[in-house]
Amino acid sequence: MSWEDNVRRVIPYVPGEQPKVTEKIIKLNTNEMPYPPSPAVKRALEGMDAARLRLYPAADVGPLRDALADHYGFGSDEVFVGVGSDDVLATAFLTFFNSDRPVLFPDITYSFYDVWAEVYRIPYEMKPLDENFHMKKSDYMGPNGGIVIANPNAPTGISEMEDVEFIEDIVAANRDSVVIVDEAYVDFGGVSALPLVKKYDNMLVVRTFSKSRAFAGMRIGYAFGSSKLIKYLNDVKYSINSYTMNRPAIELGLASLSDEAYFKETVGKVISTRSWTKDELEKRGFTVTDSKTNFVFASPSKISAKELFTALKEKGIYVRWWDKDRIRDWLRISIGTDEEMRSLMLAIDTIICL
Ligand code: PMP
Repeated sequence: MSWEDNVRRVIPYVPGEQPKVTEKIIKLNTNEMPYPPSPAVKRALEGMDAARLRLYPAADVGPLRDALADHYGFGSDEVFVGVGSDDVLATAFLTFFNSDRPVLFPDITYSFYDVWAEVYRIPYEMKPLDENFHMKKSDYMGPNGGIVIANPNAPTGISEMEDVEFIEDIVAANRDSVVIVDEAYVDFGGVSALPLVKKYDNMLVVRTFSKSRAFAGMRIGYAFGSSKLIKYLNDVKYSINSYTMNRPAIELGLASLSDEAYFKETVGKVISTRSWTKDELEKRGFTVTDSKTNFVFASPSKISAKELFTALKEKGIYVRWWDKDRIRDWLRISIGTDEEMRSLMLAIDTIICL
């Protein structure tokens, strides 16, 4: 008998590489925003009073929670804020998925879901997406202990809300379990399921400042749900760590929310660069999904995805490739600036022509 017999063992989530040398590389591997946060954030950062760091922050994230409630038309008791949406999602898994029945999510989706299920010992079942990477509604109509839908999905970029009833039908058919909709990428042209939160008390919509608000390094995630759902989330949060959000994050998050014009402008730029990138990849023989996110999911025809991934990396261009069934032939490429995407195309041309 050893202490190691009693260790909670898990195979952890593998985040995209964060290379050390940042000068010469083009980083298109972790879906960060290519533009900085709003100038209002810079001003708030510069005006910050270091002396106030001696004080604990608001445990209920009050000011930022209220601002989010206002911004999206909810009550303050219908908002939860956490340290990135990973924190919000992990807390939601622990809070709501406490059944012997399996939690359901697609086989190809955000690869943290099965990791949380494993670490919390939650039974789960992955339902295969169809050959076009779409969910099959019927897969989510049987008995279950909860449902998780990334919409738009990652790494495929595909949104199921083109059929606006898709998610509502699933939520309506599963009133005795909680449905989590992960909208990390929805600001880049996806249709949100947020209006459904007013109608169904068993639904949590989770979002993040990491992508569209260029705040990946600041760690702000949030969620909307019925006040009952949010209360249960807070009960679990306050049972682990009540002061999750630090003071600067709360203040800078407020500054970011105050500048809607900049938010719309930079998100708009990413959407138009995405459209250019898709066209250019298609011209080069790639199959590209219809992405509603800040990345494209693309399969090359003249070279394997793995070879292209490696050759790009040698040229200092980082994209994401998974050695995983069904998506082994695909690359996920985050949308950078126009200049970065032009460099990517030049690099692809050199590699493909060799
Ligand atoms: N959901 C999805 C689908 C994601 O791709 C990510 C980014 N890795 C997250 C949630 C978590 O992002 P964050 O914790 O930075 O909010």
